Amino acid sequence: MGETRHTKVLIIGSGPAGYTAAVYAARAMLNPILVQGMQPGGQLTITTEVENWPGDTHVQGPDLMVRMEAHAKAMGAEVITDIITALDLSKRPFVAQSDSGTVFTADAVILATGAQAKWLGLPSEEKFKGFGVSACATCDGFFYRGREIVVIGGGNTAVEEALFLTNFASKVTLIHRRDTLRAEKIMQDRLFKHPKIQMLWNHDVTEVVGTEAPLGVTGVRARNVQTGAEQIVPCEGFFVAIGHAPASELVKDQLPLHNGGYVKVEPGSTRTAIPGVFAAGDLTDHVYRQAVTSAGMGCMAALDAEKFLAE
Ligand SMILES: Cc1cc2nc3c(=O)[nH]c(=O)nc-3n(C[C@H](O)[C@H](O)[C@H](O)COP(=O)(O)OP(=O)(O)OC[C@H]3O[C@@H](n4cnc5c(N)ncnc54)[C@H](O)[C@@H]3O)c2cc1C
Repeated sequence: MGETRHTKVLIIGSGPAGYTAAVYAARAMLNPILVQGMQPGGQLTITTEVENWPGDTHVQGPDLMVRMEAHAKAMGAEVITDIITALDLSKRPFVAQSDSGTVFTADAVILATGAQAKWLGLPSEEKFKGFGVSACATCDGFFYRGREIVVIGGGNTAVEEALFLTNFASKVTLIHRRDTLRAEKIMQDRLFKHPKIQMLWNHDVTEVVGTEAPLGVTGVRARNVQTGAEQIVPCEGFFVAIGHAPASELVKDQLPLHNGGYVKVEPGSTRTAIPGVFAAGDLTDHVYRQAVTSAGMGCMAALDAEKFLAE
């Protein structure tokens, strides 16, 4: 049996939302405890260049997250390397069980467990992540000015990403394994009319191909799902747009979710359906999904928690 620790504010997650909440809660003298989870630093630790974090024209994602952790600690937050395995929001104080056996009790909880992009699961996709393979057009489209790009997917996200990427790319090929898209009709019309977009129907991608030194993508191997015939589609950027999975497992039976598993918050706040439980960042946001918006919501969550505790 591990120890039991009580805190006024328990922050679950160590991405931009969690660390920003920790900075604000610590500066409000709430002595927050932040539990990092299985990916200390969150999603930005698996990317390279970040060019849209205000104040840094470019910064490596992992470096930025090391700085955020140091900032949270310097303000007085306690950062713990552990994973929350169960959370009980039905009693007060709230109770969180950790993987190492510690039980945290908390007057307020800030959920900042983020989301994960869904990937194809190919070894070559893993190899080129951050070096030509991306799951975020807003984040990485700018790196492919004047280059050819391939997008894979068939839903609204894939169509939005493909259209957005035409702002940079010389050509965008959208690969989909069926012969129709799931995206809204109006989006499809826009897509089909766009002169820079070419469709490759009934194909999936079996391999990302590229160079070793420097590491970079030169194309993808596309396979016709009906005939099995393969072809290389040249590109320097390969965007996987097959959806995101919010990490709402801990609360899926306790809080209302929407849009495919995102935690629902009151508009304009981070308040969930349970008073004293707040949610921030990609866990609640199926639209923007950026470091800066997550950090903004982390700030809001700490201010909302502070107000709740004062009342
Ligand atoms: C490859 C890639 C490149 C990107 N590039 C950019 C970019 O250039 N600019 C930009 O603005 N955005 C970028 N993004 C998006 C950005 O990373 C996210 O919007 C942002 O990280 C979301 O922050 P978050 O704090 O909500 O959650 P995340 O960063 O997803 O962090 C979630 C945290 O929750 C923790 N956690 C999960 N479950 C548990 C648990 N049970 N117990 C404890 N902790 C838990 C995890 O360990 C992790 O620390 C990129 C994303 C990816 C994948």
